[in-house]
Amino acid sequence: MAFRFRRGFKTEAESHALELREELKLADHAPICPWKVAEHLEIPVHTLRSIRDVEPKAYAYLSGVGHEYFSAVTLFGGTHGCTRMICHNDSHAKTRQRANLAHELAHAILLHPPTEMFECDPDAEEEAKWLGPALLVPHPAAIKIAFTSAPIEVAAESYGVSKVLMRMRLNVTGANNIARRSRAKTGSRK
Ligand SMILES: [Zn+2]
Repeated sequence: MAFRFRRGFKTEAESHALELREELKLADHAPICPWKVAEHLEIPVHTLRSIRDVEPKAYAYLSGVGHEYFSAVTLFGGTHGCTRMICHNDSHAKTRQRANLAHELAHAILLHPPTEMFECDPDAEEEAKWLGPALLVPHPAAIKIAFTSAPIEVAAESYGVSKVLMRMRLNVTGANNIARRSRAKTGSRK
């Protein structure tokens, strides 16, 4: 059965993507750098490599048997355990690192509470899976891309995302359909 988001969630996701762009003084369709978003939200970002000494157990697991499974994780610290930081696997391709960071930032933006490491709340997970890509390619960006008919590689490259992520956003935002219908109407064969 397909997951059903709570009412209004997708609209909320788009507004988060746009609000962040506004705060960072970017156009609503502009690519966004997740590292800058993290800085803006004051969430420290650490690489897997950098926690080797402070979290030897985690490092041993993640660089060993768990290596395949580790993309990024949000860790909670501070006196009340409510200070977030993100640790991500910097050995992955940049496109994947960006998507992983966007995913963790999505959890932060949605104020998802901490869960046990490597466990997750399925609803929160679905929401972050939706919002992460939406942060990177929000609706106005998808529309702009669909209308320029840029090849998927070019569009993906200019937003620093994978072709899979770009294609998914062009579909789920309805951007592809909107552009197709508009072309049919004007009789353009582009
Ligand atoms: Zn997650």
